[in-house]
Amino acid sequence: MFIRTIFFDLDDTLYSKDSGVWQAMRGRIAQYMHEVVGIPEAEVPAVRELYLKTYGTSLRGLQTHYAIDAEAYLRYTHDIAIEQLIAPNPALDAMLAQLPQAKYIFTNSASFHAERVLKALGIEQHFAGIIDVREMQFHSKPDPLAYQLAFERSGTAAGEALFVDDMPVNLAAAKRLGAFTALAGSPEPDPAADVSVLHIEQLTEALPALVKLPHG
Ligand SMILES: [Mg+2]
Repeated sequence: MFIRTIFFDLDDTLYSKDSGVWQAMRGRIAQYMHEVVGIPEAEVPAVRELYLKTYGTSLRGLQTHYAIDAEAYLRYTHDIAIEQLIAPNPALDAMLAQLPQAKYIFTNSASFHAERVLKALGIEQHFAGIIDVREMQFHSKPDPLAYQLAFERSGTAAGEALFVDDMPVNLAAAKRLGAFTALAGSPEPDPAADVSVLHIEQLTEALPALVKLPHG
């Protein structure tokens, strides 16, 4: 195993699922669907569920069924108090400093949101770049095209890449393309993951080879 580049998911991977960020964002998405798109409030939960199942994200569903402005959607739904929900994580900062690989954020979210989260965690200096949903040309994970764009952007071959994500479905897509995978947020083994860790800070314990490799 030779890993040249690590692609980190952002939300629920670099910070805990219990932070309240997703709940806040979900509230903003529901609000957007009702107040901006005009979907009756009572129907919003069912429509969201249908979009998630059919298209992977609410945004893809809304883009398919309504003429919405994706940029405005991203601004609206990410307008939450990140700094009140996420605290600096010195342990994560120290772990990332040990890793010689190039590191990218690979997120279905927007880059301005990723920048805020990284700043709140105090780890923004570790990343060579942020590959967000706009850079994926709105082909969100697990669409294979998103991964191809990530390989191109970073100049990495699939066999030299490690993907870290809290969603097995996103890892399964990476694995099918020949990449290595790590599940974050659950210690349970998963068929889509080469390793599983409950906390992202345990990644180097689970994959000690990562820190032993020379700079790629
Ligand atoms: Mg995630």
